[in-house]
Order: sequence, then C-alpha cells, then structure tokens
Amino acid sequence: MFLPVRLTRPRWFVPGAVVTLAVTIPLAAVAAQPDPQAGEDVTTAAEARAAIEGGQAENVILLVGDGLGDSEITVARNYGAGAAGELALDTLPLTGAYTTYSVQEGTRTVPDYVTDSSAAATAWATGVKTYDGAVSVDPVSKESLPTILELASAAGFRTGNVTTAPLTDATPAVLVSHVSDRGCQGPEDAAARCPVETKNAGGLGSIAEQTVEHDVDVLMGGGRDRFKQVNTGGPFAGQTVLEQARALGYDVATTTRGMRDARPGQPFLGLFSPGAQPTEWTGPLAGREPGPVITDCPVNPEHTGVPHLAAMTRKAIALLNAEPSDGSPRPGFFLQVEGASIDKQAHDSNPCAQIGETVMFDRTVQAVLDFASRHPNTLVVVAADHAHTSQIIPTEATSPGRVATLVTADSVLMKLNYATSAGSSQTHTGTQVRIAAQGPQAAGVLGVTDQTDLFDTMARALGVA
Ligand code: MG
Ligand code: ZN
Repeated sequence: MFLPVRLTRPRWFVPGAVVTLAVTIPLAAVAAQPDPQAGEDVTTAAEARAAIEGGQAENVILLVGDGLGDSEITVARNYGAGAAGELALDTLPLTGAYTTYSVQEGTRTVPDYVTDSSAAATAWATGVKTYDGAVSVDPVSKESLPTILELASAAGFRTGNVTTAPLTDATPAVLVSHVSDRGCQGPEDAAARCPVETKNAGGLGSIAEQTVEHDVDVLMGGGRDRFKQVNTGGPFAGQTVLEQARALGYDVATTTRGMRDARPGQPFLGLFSPGAQPTEWTGPLAGREPGPVITDCPVNPEHTGVPHLAAMTRKAIALLNAEPSDGSPRPGFFLQVEGASIDKQAHDSNPCAQIGETVMFDRTVQAVLDFASRHPNTLVVVAADHAHTSQIIPTEATSPGRVATLVTADSVLMKLNYATSAGSSQTHTGTQVRIAAQGPQAAGVLGVTDQTDLFDTMARALGVA
C-alpha cells in the first residue's frame, strides 16, 4: 500500500493546527529535522552538569499527560514532527523513567500492576501509593493524606490546578480533595456513592465541594455540571457548588472571554465545558483490519470557543505570577496542568483525537518552558500517570485488535494498533513511563524512580520536605 502524499510543511502547519504558532512554538523547535547521525542532540557532560541545580524553587509547575506513555509520545512525534523531529517535551535537559503501579485496596505493598489515574496522581500528590479509585486517602485506613498543593499553600505559595478534564476528575481532584471513591465528584454523586463521606454524615463532602474549599487561587477546566449539583449538607446546603464558590469569593467564568477578563487579586474558577473539554482534533476510530487510512486529522469543530490548554495555562501563570497590589513581595506558586484526554481518546481508539491532545499538551509544555526561560528559578516537570494502549506496529502486520494507518510528517505510513481489550474501551498499561524536568531539584527525576518519588522532588523544591 502506498499513498502518493507529499507534505511540504511540517505537520503543525496543516489545518489540524489550531493555535497561533508564532506565539507558542519557536519554529525551530518543530520544523527542525535533525540528522540522527549528526549527534547534535547529544548532551555533553558540561551541559548535564549545568542542568543540575539544588536549592529551592520560586515556582513549581507539574505538567501531566494522562496516558502519555512512551508509545503515545512516539506516535505524536512521528505524526506531527517526523521520526527525527523533536517535541517540546523532548527538550527538557534531565530525563528518567518512573514506575507507576498502584497497590491493592487494604494493603500497602501488594502491587496492582496497572494503575488508574487517581491512584497514580495520589502517588505524586502525597508520596503514598494507594488503590485504584482512591483520591488522596490511605489504602488501608482511608484517612486523608496531606497533598503537595496543601503543603505549598500552607507554606505561602499561590496554587493553581488546570485540566482539560472535569475539574472533579481524578488527576485534578487528588490535589484538593480526599475521598475513598473517585466517582464522588459532585454532592449528588457523593450522596449516592459515598454517603458516609458527605457533609451530612460529618465527612469532607464531594470532590467539587472540597475543590472550592481549598483556597486554590486558580482553577480551570471542564466539569461545570458537577458544580451545578446542589449541596446536601454543611453551611451551603441547598445551594449549588457554583453558588458556594461565589460566596467563598471566586470569580466564576464559563467562557474564553471570562477567562481573559480574570484579574489577579481574586481567586478564579473557570468551568468552560459541562463535562470534559472537547478534543482539539477529531477523526475516524481505529477499526478491524485493515482499518481506516488517515491522511490528515481534522480540527474538531466542537472545540470552537473553548480555551485551549496552552491558553488556560498561560492565563493561570499570569494570574499566579502577578505582583501583589499591596506592594508585598510576590510569593511563588505551585501549578499542576493536565492534558487529560490523551487517555480518554486512547480508551476510545481514536488516533487523531489522541494525537491532537498530545500536540496541544506539547504546546502547553512549550508555553511553560517559555515562562521558565524568563523565570529560571522554576522547577518544571513533565510526566504521565500511566502508559496506554496505542502501539506502532509494522504496516504489514495483521492485528487481532483495532488498527488505523496514518500518513505522518515524514510522508510515510504509520500503523497504530489498539488491542488491549476486545470490548469498546481500551485499557491502561502497566509499563514505566517517562519523566523529564529542569530547574531546582530536577535531578530527582534521573534514573529509574517511582511515581511517589516525584512528591519528594517537588517537596524539596518547595522547601516543604
Ligand atoms: Mg486525568
Ligand atoms: Zn484512563
């Protein structure tokens, strides 16, 4: 099979590209096609030494690609930049791998080899491994575990939490809530799924309630419908969580314009979609052999009017980094940013949507690196919670699962295989994943570490270890 397709531009410039490239991505970072023999990407001993810094960071920014395993990174690089191309996340100077396994409920040491997002995120948020579905609670006692955001906040840092998922989804939830079941997202969900943890029962309440009660300076993502649920107990009983947020002082916005208008000095809650944010790109699902052949991933028209992850992140940083109006010294900040739907689209065997989310995540990494170049005392970490299902297989291979073949930026065919489940939803996988970093304490990611070690790295950088 051969398709006479010639791409004259890097893939980022086809209609699938959706943001103003000049603003977010240096041309050289994506258009370069380095000769793999030339050795120009080799890190010298002097460069490696220069990248290792101890001490405390002014700011810590953690970027998490949900489901961004090595395979998902390679898929996006091949498609968007070519096999010899470079993603922004490839440019961080210090890189390692970390293990992601969770533990079985009621134990501390019996591994569950394939984690879910809540146990994985609890690991870096608290330094403790827990069971799948747990949100920053101990795997045995179910007691609350202090989170890195809580520790940063108590130490005087500003804090932010940005995602393309509902803000009540597992990855953002672990920073700001403690609940035994990740499904307890809004007050009505909690009443049905974890009644003993509701405010009525003397508990901490749902993830949405706890999220707005954590004094987080900037919260942005989807999941508005969860915040429209009505509190069943506590001082805000009878009011929605949105009303509660406004009563607690939040500037609440639901549109891109509202996000642009947000000003420092008031906590900001942006809820831009009823559920997860729409994906950047769309396209055919992978199918049984021979599967679809995809020459160009189209932009998803449903994304129109919704802020991109890179734009939310730039705004969050601007708010978090603003000078205090009273002339006091500017505190540093802790910010977590999640590209959530790499995972969700891999579950759905949707290669274009998966790649589009990865490309936007990578643009967000570039936006953060641009900030860090002006504020070098910033620890930047790029990691994943777990690997996922997509694999690159030979074009001549025949898969028992679902496949799709894409024309890459190299004008070459790349065959993708989604075969971790016979059902309609593919699964996470249990392999170690990449973690990369720069800035103070970034050397903590070197070698093969565990997901819980990321907590220690960030805590050292924040001076809260
Ligand atoms: Mg997630
Ligand atoms: Zn998942």
